[in-house]
Amino acid sequence: MTRVFSGIKPTGHLTLGNYLGAMRQWAAVDQHQADALFCIVDLHGMTVDHDPARLRRLTRQAATLLLAAGLDPELCTVFVQSHVDEHTRLSYLMECVATDGEMRRMIQYKEKVASEAVRGRSVRLSLLTYPALMAADILAYGADEVPVGDDQAQHVELTRDLAVRFNQRYGHTFVVPKATVPKVAARVMNLQDPMSKMGKSDDSGPGVVYLLDEPEVIRKKIMRAVTDSGQEVVYDREERPGVANLLEILAACTGGNPESLATVHDSYGALKRATADAVLDVLGPVQARHKELCVDPGYVEEVLRHGAEKARAISRPIVDTAYRAIGL
Ligand code: ADP
Repeated sequence: MTRVFSGIKPTGHLTLGNYLGAMRQWAAVDQHQADALFCIVDLHGMTVDHDPARLRRLTRQAATLLLAAGLDPELCTVFVQSHVDEHTRLSYLMECVATDGEMRRMIQYKEKVASEAVRGRSVRLSLLTYPALMAADILAYGADEVPVGDDQAQHVELTRDLAVRFNQRYGHTFVVPKATVPKVAARVMNLQDPMSKMGKSDDSGPGVVYLLDEPEVIRKKIMRAVTDSGQEVVYDREERPGVANLLEILAACTGGNPESLATVHDSYGALKRATADAVLDVLGPVQARHKELCVDPGYVEEVLRHGAEKARAISRPIVDTAYRAIGL
């Protein structure tokens, strides 16, 4: 059976981008068709300035939302990265296989370094080595496929390179994984700045729809989305990124396609109303289930404890094999 691994960072409240680009596919497809592991990657949450209590809170919240989005612990494994030591054990080996140059070429690293430099700040060393840990996350489970949004494709590509290099140099040890990117909503954009992705770190941003935003807040954010001075609804990512983003969100929520949806709505106002309705229809059940799960935090804890046990049982022999292969 195909093995699938994917993760989500608890660096902020989860967004509509996380849901449409990743979580929904995990729940609707991956957990049914594969031996799937979904990890809340809290160690990656420490690559940027973080508050310990908030990180812990957001980790629990992410786990609760994954279950609310439909991940079923009977069908898949849900766990927290720091509960399983194999990630950091293998990460060090990955740092020994990767080069400094290939880490520095990662777009996310370069963008973050540039934005921090403007403020006169430097970044944590772990931000540079983050792709080594991410490679370890994936390779430790022998994952064949990594379902991710398109922003993570470069990191998965590096993971493949490291797996191939390790296998060639030290003998066949790792499965070489591939990224699977959803066809629609691979990149949900910020509603106020449709040239940049809707990211969770921009907390309380008016351009970001959070999964736990109140319905009226979600509607307001979508109704105030930046469009352009045109009148006619056309799907054009280059020239009309704001409208294209709304059409893609609507398509992702309703199962349509952006081009034909553009012909259905005759004004930006109508498009925004339809998009808000569709988003609320999709998120309503997730929010309701989240509320139910919050009543029993012990249940979520138990799911995570059991998930870590299952994850350990898979990853330990693989990481042990890698240690032996490299000469330890
Ligand atoms: P972020 O911190 O940017 O929210 P994560 O690294 O936690 O994202 O990613 C979790 C998953 O959600 C990944 O598969 C990522 O590709 C996907 N994802 C994140 N933001 C978006 C977005 N705006 N559109 C589509 N997918 C996204």
